[in-house]
Amino acid sequence: MEKKQFQAESKRLLDMMIHSIYTQKEIFLRELISNASDAIDKIYYKALTDSALEFDSTNYWIKVAADKERRTLTIVDTGIGMTEEDLENHLGVIAKSGSLAFKKEHEAKEGHDLIGQFGVGFYSAFMVADRVTVISRALGSEQAYKWESTGADGYTIEPWEKADVGTEITLQIKENTEDESYDEYLDAYRLKAIIKKYSDFIRYPIRMDVAGEEQTINSMVPIWRKNKNELTAEDYEKFYAEKHYRFDKPLKHIHINVEGAVTYQSILYIPETIPFDYYTKEFEKGLELYANGVLIMNRCADLLPDHFSFVKGMVDSDSLSLNISREMLQHDRQLKLIAKNIASKIKSQLLSLLKDEREQYEKFYESFGRQLKYGLYSDFGTHKEALQDLVMFHSSKEKKWVTLDEYVSRMPEEQKYIYYATGDSIERIEKLPQTELVTDKGYELLYFTDDIDEFAIKMLMTYKDKEFKNVSSGDLGIEADETESEAEQQEHQELFAHMKGQLAGKVSNVRASKRLKTHPVCLSTEGDVTIEMEKVLNAMPN
Ligand code: ADP
Ligand code: MG
Repeated sequence: MEKKQFQAESKRLLDMMIHSIYTQKEIFLRELISNASDAIDKIYYKALTDSALEFDSTNYWIKVAADKERRTLTIVDTGIGMTEEDLENHLGVIAKSGSLAFKKEHEAKEGHDLIGQFGVGFYSAFMVADRVTVISRALGSEQAYKWESTGADGYTIEPWEKADVGTEITLQIKENTEDESYDEYLDAYRLKAIIKKYSDFIRYPIRMDVAGEEQTINSMVPIWRKNKNELTAEDYEKFYAEKHYRFDKPLKHIHINVEGAVTYQSILYIPETIPFDYYTKEFEKGLELYANGVLIMNRCADLLPDHFSFVKGMVDSDSLSLNISREMLQHDRQLKLIAKNIASKIKSQLLSLLKDEREQYEKFYESFGRQLKYGLYSDFGTHKEALQDLVMFHSSKEKKWVTLDEYVSRMPEEQKYIYYATGDSIERIEKLPQTELVTDKGYELLYFTDDIDEFAIKMLMTYKDKEFKNVSSGDLGIEADETESEAEQQEHQELFAHMKGQLAGKVSNVRASKRLKTHPVCLSTEGDVTIEMEKVLNAMPN
């Protein structure tokens, strides 16, 4: 039998494939299963337009079988199969995708759910196998063919026998080397885990013998493709637990189904408790990313803005342009659109939680509020619109969380500013001499007890056209009482000069103040940087 050579380009490509396209060897199984699923889909799409063909989904499946003795791994499918010509064209020419051609042929009408497009996935089998044998019988043909290759040195095709339409691919798994073991690809539990990880939502059953019993490994219908009305809170909780997003229960889930310029489905969770490493460098944000039900990335950071980094969950889209290894995305335009969309959905979900389930929101805020405030401060306040309505502070009026909107909506008409005071704790702030004047006026005072608070608010500058004012800053805008008369200043001139001398280098001036009621002295600042901010800035490493 004549041995055919891969085209020269193909040889080089195959070499590249085996050595550098994929970072993880285990994905070969994802690629072969995706091809099997595509092959079944093709029958399904054909049946849509061909009345002679019936598609009874119970007849279609994918089977994975490992033989430890022979060191073989076999993937069988009941898909459309390949003719001799297909074997030659699709497996003989690397980077030629029969699935892409099929998609083009059936342009836009159907077939857009097919996974394949690059025509390289098949060759990933050579990362773990010395020899790959494909026996295939095409739909509508009696004759089967066998394609076989040991990699770069070419392939053979010969007529073969096969009882049913479909494809059987057998990998001769490599022997272990000094630095690499391939045994795991013959181990049923390991294979099961790989299938679960990447191919759980393949639409056809993937069967395998595990401990002497045939099991269907994949769950097939992804929960995110189901109708929201069919799903219960328990279903969402189960999915959260199954995906090991966290060990707690989610506080809230968001199920998104968007069709349009970009099409995607997503299930997002707002966790109930803070991950132990949340406010550390080790914490990594991100959502799982699926393309057409196949897992592409475990943690896609670009899908979440930092201020919503606490959100867990997944996104599935068929509008992504993947790169060849499907480990990265080729263009991020679609991804950016999805990310933007997701951020606004999270925001509106948080706003409705705030409006309708205040207690839940406060619970959430106690865990992740700091991150929201951090979001206001970072990127020079670019996320102002998204975040200003979500932040809360304690206040003098209610001794509980207050939003800026609540504060402003109950300000007396003559009140000029949104007043706040900073300190380590509410108790300490309440002892500050400067607070008295404001509270005596009947004005509400926000308590800033978190380092980030004042920085965040400085980025906001105003809320609903009201400026923020630290009670220890110079001009409080509380007229009349505010300015000291010249006579009074003169009267104590000598005393002030003496005090200033004593406190040289610590204060820049000593003056009479009408701001005090029951306290003899207070510190105040002029300019933009307040005492609390100075403290934080001084504590920062240079
Ligand atoms: P892609 O899936 O991106 O098209 P692959 O290298 O994975 O590229 O596969 C190349 C082509 O080989 C496919 O497009 C398809 O036409 C054919 N093929 C591979 N596996 C099968 C299979 N199990 N059944 C039928 N055709 C297959
Ligand atoms: Mg493929």
